[in-house]
Amino acid sequence: MPKDAHPTPLDSADVILSDLDGVVYRGAAPIPHAIAALNSARKSKTVGFLTNNASRLAADVAEQLVSMGLRADADDVVTSPQATLLLLSKVVEPGASLLAIGGPGLTVVLEGAGYRLVRTADENPDAVVQGFSPRVSWADLAEATYALASGIPWVATNLDAALPLERGLAPGNGALVAAVRAVVNREPLAAGKPETALFDAARERFLGSRWLFIGDRIDTDIRGAKRSGMSSALVFTGISRPQDAFAAPPDARPDFILRDLRDLTLPYPSTRLTRNDQFLTSTVANSVVAAEGRRIRLVAPGDEPMNVIRATAALVWEHTVTFDSPRLDAELREVIAGTLD
Ligand SMILES: [Mg+2]
Repeated sequence: MPKDAHPTPLDSADVILSDLDGVVYRGAAPIPHAIAALNSARKSKTVGFLTNNASRLAADVAEQLVSMGLRADADDVVTSPQATLLLLSKVVEPGASLLAIGGPGLTVVLEGAGYRLVRTADENPDAVVQGFSPRVSWADLAEATYALASGIPWVATNLDAALPLERGLAPGNGALVAAVRAVVNREPLAAGKPETALFDAARERFLGSRWLFIGDRIDTDIRGAKRSGMSSALVFTGISRPQDAFAAPPDARPDFILRDLRDLTLPYPSTRLTRNDQFLTSTVANSVVAAEGRRIRLVAPGDEPMNVIRATAALVWEHTVTFDSPRLDAELREVIAGTLD
């Protein structure tokens, strides 16, 4: 590598783990460039997929990925019910009886691991496991609250409040868990992002030492990866926008900020922060932004607008240590807004 060349995000890891919704696909449609980038990454890296979705089996997820042209099989997919097994192994004995609320994505995994599933609180389950299914009813939630009254462990596959569907946002597992929580007045253990069990399950599955997790959400993906000690890349093909990255608290700041997955194999320039009496300046390649008090302004747009976003993020993250609510100048906001059009 020439002296002035920067490593790519892909160079930083030997295992690439990717979120699915908002990174690989959106609903039924593949996200532009994602499939080609991940297939190409597989030539030199281990690539795995992590999903909080508890309603589908890993094999079904893999089948969908293959139908989009991605090379993947069931063993490459880690689901939140699989991560739930890790949590269960810490709170119940092997073969314990479980009151499982959820669909086949959950029940098949629990039964496959040797647990005995019961349908009512009267059967004295050793724990309650709660995952999403569109068929979960009031009667199911009531069995959970009856069973939890005895103080047995409660494990949720994930706590995503909202489920994005074609017609809008619908109640997700987090909303159904909240209904139970309102009655039993305690918190479940949770397996999905941003908790660490899903990442831990991936660590057990894939051999490696340097992990890069790619996600589209600051609050779940990036926070969870950091908690798990993995490096992380935020990609702007899903939920989080540049402003969300700027506002990220220290425990949810990504190591890389990507426009789309093509950026995985492009040199990722380093950030240089310099301070004088008046200004704090952030430089990424030939993009420069500067902070004066709370005001952040564009000094030089440079050749690559993503570098303006990267420089601004570094500046805001450094800046908020000493100042509240940074204000971005109109010109800077315009360049940032135009980057993702
Ligand atoms: Mg996502």
